[in-house]
Amino acid sequence: MSDVINGSCLCGKVKFELRGPFNSFFVCHCSRCRKATGSAHASNIFTTPDNLSWTHGEDLIRDFKLESAKFFGRNFCAECGSPVPRVSEERNFAVIPAGTLDEDPGICPENIIFWDDRAHWYDEMSSAPHFAKYPDK
Ligand SMILES: [Zn+2]
Ligand SMILES: [Zn+2]
Repeated sequence: MSDVINGSCLCGKVKFELRGPFNSFFVCHCSRCRKATGSAHASNIFTTPDNLSWTHGEDLIRDFKLESAKFFGRNFCAECGSPVPRVSEERNFAVIPAGTLDEDPGICPENIIFWDDRAHWYDEMSSAPHFAKYPDK
């Protein structure tokens, strides 16, 4: 894939362009990912750093490294606090939170990891009623 996929944070001050190929797409239910996202799981696309270019607001990116973990960390926008991609030049990868993408990356999660650590309420979600927007009154 050679098409450029645009991504941005919630407030739109951090923007980036992403190119393929992608190495993998992981959904992780571990407790760290649940804390870091505030949701049921992280959804991360992995690629190499050269496939990512910042186009706006790179100076707003803040880097948090979890001291108790060997590698775990998160990058976020200083303005809105939402996650943005994280790059490790030493380990030659870039992690792209899939929810930051403004366009369809054209791939789906290949591996669901830390499944046994998932939130208790997660399994019940698919049987809850679905609404296109808000619930009907
Ligand atoms: Zn932002
Ligand atoms: Zn995780």
